[in-house]
Amino acid sequence: MNMKKIFAICVAICLFSNMLLAQSTTTKVIAHRGAWKTEGLPQNSLASLNRAIELGCYGSEFDVHLTKDDVLVVNHDHDFYGLEIEESTYEQLLSKSHPNGEKIPTAEAYIKEGLKQKNTKLIYELKTSRKGKDRTLEAARKSIELVKNLGAKELIEYICFDFDAGELIKTLDSEAEVSYLNGDKTPAEAKKAGYSGIDYHFSLFDKNPEWLGEAQKIGLTVNSWTVNKIEDIKKLIEQRIDFITTDEPELALRELKGE
Ligand code: MG
Repeated sequence: MNMKKIFAICVAICLFSNMLLAQSTTTKVIAHRGAWKTEGLPQNSLASLNRAIELGCYGSEFDVHLTKDDVLVVNHDHDFYGLEIEESTYEQLLSKSHPNGEKIPTAEAYIKEGLKQKNTKLIYELKTSRKGKDRTLEAARKSIELVKNLGAKELIEYICFDFDAGELIKTLDSEAEVSYLNGDKTPAEAKKAGYSGIDYHFSLFDKNPEWLGEAQKIGLTVNSWTVNKIEDIKKLIEQRIDFITTDEPELALRELKGE
């Protein structure tokens, strides 16, 4: 093979790998607690999940707690309209409703709704229990079991503030995508514990500007919450963050489309 041919092959390989790199670093949008804001939908409702799906978000984030009688339910706060979730049975929680008439979704119902499509991932936040570590880990075990039983492994990515819970999830399902939320670990520490990504408050990437690149270099995905202002969205897109979690998915999607 002559030198010209070798050179041409090298150039082609370079162009192809650059193309792959560009594709892999295109920022994706995750709707925080579903896409609720523009249409005034309840956060973490099936309606807000379906709106995130309609918008074509990469993912829709939701929060999961365990009731007193061991039912995984979807809500942000530890109480559902005044009823403490961990101190209530699922039946008791059904006495309250979202303003749109929906009852508190079970994680099962929520995942089944998501399984009606394949384009938008469900970003499953395992909430930290107020009843202690054992209860958080129990919720993690039940979550993995539920997702497996529903055949939803492909659809789900996990996030959690409890470092041990994330480690447990990876132990129970080595293929699971799990990102750490609390921001008190370096990318290397998160990687060493088995995490597949970090998902930190956006201010931490200002305080630790090297973390984003460092994390990606060692094969972690990088996500940030809750990025609502256009200047912060733009900055993270420029830094080629993998994911932006936002209450303003329409705004972030428009920015990415260059509209
Ligand atoms: Mg959350």
